[in-house]
Amino acid sequence: MKITKFETFIVPPRWLFLKIETDEGIVGWGEPVIEGRAATVKAAVEELSEYLIGKDPLRIEDHWQVMYRAGFYRGGPILMSAISGIDQALWDIKGKYLNAPVYELMGGACRDSVRVYSWIGGDRPSDVGKAAKEAVEAGFTAVKMNGTEELQYIDSYQKIDEAVERIAAVREAVGDYIGIGIDFHGRVHKPMAKILAKELEQFRPMFIEEPVLPENNEALREIAHATNIPIATGERMFSKWDFKKLLEDGYVDIIQPDLSHAGGITECKKIFAMAEAYDVAVAPHCPLGPIALASCLQVDGTSHNVFIQEQSLGIHYNQGSDLLDYLNDKKVFEYKDGYVDLLKGPGLGISMNEEFVNEQAKEGHNWKNPVWRHKDGTVAEW
Ligand SMILES: [Mg+2]
Repeated sequence: MKITKFETFIVPPRWLFLKIETDEGIVGWGEPVIEGRAATVKAAVEELSEYLIGKDPLRIEDHWQVMYRAGFYRGGPILMSAISGIDQALWDIKGKYLNAPVYELMGGACRDSVRVYSWIGGDRPSDVGKAAKEAVEAGFTAVKMNGTEELQYIDSYQKIDEAVERIAAVREAVGDYIGIGIDFHGRVHKPMAKILAKELEQFRPMFIEEPVLPENNEALREIAHATNIPIATGERMFSKWDFKKLLEDGYVDIIQPDLSHAGGITECKKIFAMAEAYDVAVAPHCPLGPIALASCLQVDGTSHNVFIQEQSLGIHYNQGSDLLDYLNDKKVFEYKDGYVDLLKGPGLGISMNEEFVNEQAKEGHNWKNPVWRHKDGTVAEW
């Protein structure tokens, strides 16, 4: 079998899909995107396709190594997201060729289903109590929300109190035992992260996420000493080498690699296994589309230390076109009591509605996150 064609589709709300064709008629789908840089990743995918066209799609590990190593420069969000989507599509082809879901090709399942959580509240969290209640009524056993808006290196206790009030409202609305993930979103700097984490402890959150930016991960040591809340991070880390020091240092409790950013199925399976050796849990990041989610669920199926999966159904970014819209069989992502079953179809286990993909690609998108500034005019983390 030979790879014959690469085709990319920039589709709303903010995604990039990739279809790889073969001379045996088997096609594979991937989602190579970094949010806000879809066109740049598309160009990287096209460059990588020059090497892959004409090659055997089943030699995934070798293709991964060539894409990663043979260009001399490596890593980072753009190249690794391009590799991720290509890798997903190759696994989809392999699974269809062997008529098995990807998890069967990676050792087989160690679970029947995966717990999922729902986003609430948007970029600037408001009305979160009500949204949390609705998510729980829809069957979710866990929610995630942004903790704060902009926060300066040293900011006012008023903003701390506002954050505390919001989390209090959520805890009040959902009762004692629903999981609450609180995403600091890299908006918080070390001095405020310690204060905020300590104040939020009373609500017994499931985790705090990106308490500081990943480039400041050495600060996790001090934050971990200031609070007993599990610390999660990793959506902006892109390979096993990026995770190496984080795991060795031992201050992280949950890693959150993104299957569309951290080298795809091949690399994330390895990163999850590295975490297992450090007794660290995994909650794969996935605010993206159906191909990315299917890829996550395939690896989750074989990974003992995955305890929950992010998914974007109904997320604030998806207004107007959501992940189910792109599927022929929407039932594969049916959530029951806050869990989703493994996808048992061949390859990634989903069937793309190509007509809809083509239609949406005509519309395209140019999604960018907003640029936020503090009161003094300095740029703020979004
Ligand atoms: Mg996050």
